[in-house]
Amino acid sequence: MPEHLSHSKRFGTAQYDHFFADAMAQIHAEQRYRVFADLERMAGDFPRALWHGPSGSQEVVIWCSNDYLGMGQHPSVIAAMTEAAKRLGTGAGGTRNISGTTHPLLELEIELADLHHKEAALVFTSGYVSNQTGISTIGKLVPDCVILSDALNHNSIIEGIRQSGCRRIFRHNDHRHLEELLRTVGQVRPKLIVFESLYSMDGDIAPIRRICDLAEYYGAMTYLDEVHAVGMYGPRGGGIAERDRVMHRIDVIEGTLAKAFGCLGGYIAGTATLIDAVRSHAPGFIFTTALPPPICAAATAAIRHLKVSHSERCAHQDRVQRVKAELNWARLPVMASGSHIVPLRVGDPAKCKAASDMLLEAHRIYIQPINYPTVARGTERLRITPSPCHDDIMISQLVAALSEVWDELELPRESAA
Ligand code: PLP
Repeated sequence: MPEHLSHSKRFGTAQYDHFFADAMAQIHAEQRYRVFADLERMAGDFPRALWHGPSGSQEVVIWCSNDYLGMGQHPSVIAAMTEAAKRLGTGAGGTRNISGTTHPLLELEIELADLHHKEAALVFTSGYVSNQTGISTIGKLVPDCVILSDALNHNSIIEGIRQSGCRRIFRHNDHRHLEELLRTVGQVRPKLIVFESLYSMDGDIAPIRRICDLAEYYGAMTYLDEVHAVGMYGPRGGGIAERDRVMHRIDVIEGTLAKAFGCLGGYIAGTATLIDAVRSHAPGFIFTTALPPPICAAATAAIRHLKVSHSERCAHQDRVQRVKAELNWARLPVMASGSHIVPLRVGDPAKCKAASDMLLEAHRIYIQPINYPTVARGTERLRITPSPCHDDIMISQLVAALSEVWDELELPRESAA
């Protein structure tokens, strides 16, 4: 070792460890240390999975997957992925600026533009990246732009807005408050309203039509995150905006390929000019490797299937209604939700984790606890996501197991109506 390095080498990097240990001690003290279950989902047998737990491997039923429609095991999606891998190999080979675009990625973008009836679409490596780099780039390209953001917008949206400058927050789903803010910003200054169609922790839905009315009156652009709705709502799976016949009034629609489409990746869709500008300026697009061709091919197969097939959407809604009805009948505290998300109020981080552990260990049911910072402190919950693959027996077993856990932990029930 060179003489001049020997002194510092002796100190090593151990003196930094306490920063990380302190950070973790804080998380443990707040009883929100997260443990990820070690799982293997069983293709062809969703929602069953193999759980590698402390006492070996056991079969469990998953009740918290965002593969909402089970498209991750759909034969045509798996066939598209494997066929593309055999034909084109596994990786994209680089960023699109350096290595060009693989043909399945172009086909995917055409499919997405058509899904939302927009001129063009641009694919990113995740929904998170599409929001973060998409919103920040749009915000920077419009001089002096004010971004008006719903108070409960996802972290990816918040990070995108933070990077782009001026923001105003309106109370969640409160179009009156949004209007007050629009009035103070005035007609002249450029404005972008950013919101979600379906909020994934509460399952509530935005007043999209009202927001579009305001946007048109005050001359604001609209950016709508449809991550938890694409594939599942609307006659072709275009999302809540398609269902409510307002898709044409939204300037930019953002979505994911990782939830109802069962794959990975994110996208924005809008005018050809806007998409070309984001393509040419967004660091989160330019400087990262593109999605692999097998994933693009699989996502395209899932989107094409859900454009014409309604059976998954119908079965999904039927299962959701049944789960809600049985939980209500058992007086378990279902939080009101106008969508497929079924949150069950716990209101305590330690009990939320304990309930999840008991469900897994004693009942072979997996529901991840949802604690701060994903939701506000005191609103901890179990977030249940029924799919078309959950049958009546699984639903009865879920409600029986939850009832037992609720009694053991002395959690409150809803009072009888
Ligand atoms: N937008 C919302 C509202 C989300 O809830 C999420 C993730 O759950 C994302 C964006 C990010 O999407 P992805 O999982 O594709 O990165």
